[in-house]
Amino acid sequence: MILFTLRCSHGHEFEGWFRDGEGFEAQQKAGEIACPECGQTLGEIDPHGIYGEASEEESRELTDEGISFGRIPWVPQTDS
Ligand SMILES: [Zn+2]
Repeated sequence: MILFTLRCSHGHEFEGWFRDGEGFEAQQKAGEIACPECGQTLGEIDPHGIYGEASEEESRELTDEGISFGRIPWVPQTDS
C-alpha cells in the first residue's frame, strides 16, 4: 500500500491509500478519487498537480506511466 498526499486545483490537500501505482491510476481514471473539501475528482486535475509519497521502485513505476509527482519534503533521504 502507498499513501499519496493529493492536492486538487483549489489547493485542498487530502490523503489517499492505494494498492500500488497501478491501483492509483485505475481509480484516478475511473474518477473515484475526489477531494473531500470540494468534491473535485482527481481525473479533472492536471497530473502535474499530484503530490505523492512512494518507494523508489513505485516512484519509477509512476514515472514510467507518465505521472509526475513531487516527494513530500520531510521524507528522509538516504545517500545509497
Ligand atoms: Zn478541493
